[in-house]
Amino acid sequence: MGLRIYNTLTRRVEPFEPLHGGRVTMYTCGPTVWNFAHIGNFRTFLFEDLLRRHLESLGYEVFQVMNLTDVDDRTIGAAREAGVRLHDHTARFVEAFFEDCDYLRIKPASVYPRATEYVRPMIELVESLLARNLAYKGDDGSVYFAVDRFAAYGRLSQVEKRELKAGSRIASDDYTKEDARDFALWKAASPADEAVGAAWDAPFGRGRPGWHLECSAIALTEIRKRYDVETLDIHAGGVDLVFPHHENEIAQSEGATGKQFCRYWMHGEFLTIGGTKMSKRFGNTLTARDLREEGVDAAAARMLCYSTHYRQQLSFTDEALQAATEGVRRLGEFRDRLVESARAGGDEASALPRAALNLESEFRERLDDDLNAPQAVAAAFSFVRDANRELDAGAWSAGEAASALRVFDRVMDVLDVLPTPVAADEQLRVWVEDRLAARAAARKARDFSTADRIRADLAERGIEVEDTAKGPRWKVRSPAARGGASSRQSDS
Ligand SMILES: [Zn+2]
Repeated sequence: MGLRIYNTLTRRVEPFEPLHGGRVTMYTCGPTVWNFAHIGNFRTFLFEDLLRRHLESLGYEVFQVMNLTDVDDRTIGAAREAGVRLHDHTARFVEAFFEDCDYLRIKPASVYPRATEYVRPMIELVESLLARNLAYKGDDGSVYFAVDRFAAYGRLSQVEKRELKAGSRIASDDYTKEDARDFALWKAASPADEAVGAAWDAPFGRGRPGWHLECSAIALTEIRKRYDVETLDIHAGGVDLVFPHHENEIAQSEGATGKQFCRYWMHGEFLTIGGTKMSKRFGNTLTARDLREEGVDAAAARMLCYSTHYRQQLSFTDEALQAATEGVRRLGEFRDRLVESARAGGDEASALPRAALNLESEFRERLDDDLNAPQAVAAAFSFVRDANRELDAGAWSAGEAASALRVFDRVMDVLDVLPTPVAADEQLRVWVEDRLAARAAARKARDFSTADRIRADLAERGIEVEDTAKGPRWKVRSPAARGGASSRQSDS
């Protein structure tokens, strides 16, 4: 049936057809680098990561743009508070964001444009909106978009025309539907902006871009440059961006180009902790680095996110994280078994090929169905059960196991939820080898209680030992999730 996705613009699940054959342009609103991004933000980035990987597995060439908001009300406020220049403040959090993405195995976007490096196209966009009479300069020196002069305003968020307070203005970057009014494209420079180095000269006055303007200018610049088009295939973000951010992006972009800005709008739901949306505003944030410091395997964090459909709220609890960790462990063990089975198989025929075929088609169908990750994950586990049953029965061929492994790996490439192998440092390696030698000596002397005690010591340090015909093999177990996550409070 092909990929179908829920389009916020039409409030319907629709067949996905990119504008130009085999390529997809995808714009994903990136982090505002005023602080560490929290795992609610990362839930959105992980949903987009899955979307990207699924599109690529379907054979599309995906051009993904993720902007970095390094100038807006919040970054300026944070830089002022820290008493540093805007650029110095944000550089630190840009770096932290990339570290967190690496930890969570998020595939890098094709480009990461920083807003401050796109001020020129932002100014041009404002000029073109002024020329088309869709914008005006307010008596405060800022430039505003006139919502009542753009007929389609409110279509995405379904904000009723009567709720619009045309002619009255809002200067802040973020506001609610109650404040649906003319919004700032360009904000006249204030002493606070100047103090942190967040002001630029423009024909319509010195100032800085509004947050909404940034994404329009960056998206249009990037897709023009790459493909000479002005229409995105997919624009994705968190559900809180529908209004006003994405509504305003449409108004600015379509107001300037006269073309549809984006064909498919996709929005990921919130992550909640204790039933409340995670937000710095509510003081219940947990960052990716908190998880990493607690020894949570990124695979488990990914698995947890994919256990709930992206359009449903995800409740983050210790129990859910534990379950995800256990699931990841099972997948890792199963893969080890498949690898071993491809080496040790005979030449008998089993039902492994049929199980692999089922996995391949079912996994794709589930993700084609508006990215139904929980069911795609369920298909993977159902394959694990079926394949284990075949392997338990003891009759399979090495070739069957090898091709089942290839299918399983293709599926795992999309989800990327196999446990992180833990690298042993040199000191640990020497210690383990020494303990294993002592254990071998104890066994040889038939001192089994010493041998058992050594094995227990190793287990306590997270070392798993497997006795094989060629001697003992060992590995470091993946770090287990430790508790306390859902009760954590952050003051950031
Ligand atoms: Zn944006």
